[in-house]
Amino acid sequence: MFATQGAEAKEAGKKVLVVEDEPRVAEFISSALNEFGYIVTWSESGADGLQRLQSGDFDLAILDVLLPDCDGFEVLAAARRKGMKTPVMMLTAKTAVEDRVKGLDLGADDYIPKPFELSELMARVRALLRRRSAEYDWLTLADLTLEPVTRQVTRGEKRIDLTAREFSLLEYMLRNKGKPLSRAQIMENVWNDPNGDSTVVPVYINYLRTKIELPGCVRLIHTVRGVGYVLEVRDFTS
Ligand code: CA
Repeated sequence: MFATQGAEAKEAGKKVLVVEDEPRVAEFISSALNEFGYIVTWSESGADGLQRLQSGDFDLAILDVLLPDCDGFEVLAAARRKGMKTPVMMLTAKTAVEDRVKGLDLGADDYIPKPFELSELMARVRALLRRRSAEYDWLTLADLTLEPVTRQVTRGEKRIDLTAREFSLLEYMLRNKGKPLSRAQIMENVWNDPNGDSTVVPVYINYLRTKIELPGCVRLIHTVRGVGYVLEVRDFTS
């Protein structure tokens, strides 16, 4: 039924948010994704899905159109307005052309009508992840986005100006998000000076915190006692 395992190897470990209120459908999709090594988070409502999209760290979202509290188009539009760049695949029983057009206009990257073959969904998921990573070398965490080519950094809708060193530090941390990084690693990779005076590291971490951890935003830079620093989402409600 599925393509060879090798085809999925590159995508394994990718984080997928499934926003779908019907448990049977969610279970069907989640178990297939799990089987191929994707890490799946299931959200049952539009409001919860939006909150997770804004605050979480996902490589892809699969968004149902018919949700109990609001429709998937509203979730998509709200997320895009807030600067969320995660690729989104819309999932719906509606097959009308105008719905498909609406979804694509609002920033959906793909669209699959129910009922669908699991093999087709999986193929589209893989294609979307590959296309996205080839087209855009965006580094993201929650609503923080860094574009290495244009050197643009945004938090939600807000553009953030960083110095060259701050930019390098943030890029290094984003490329290693979720991994605790020691001062020595940061000195080696950001300052290209493994033996340099590492007391500059906390100073620059502080500069970055001031610029990217805006009031009301989820904190992303955490101190790991005795190790160094880690960039990650710890609690999406905080
Ligand atoms: Ca539904």
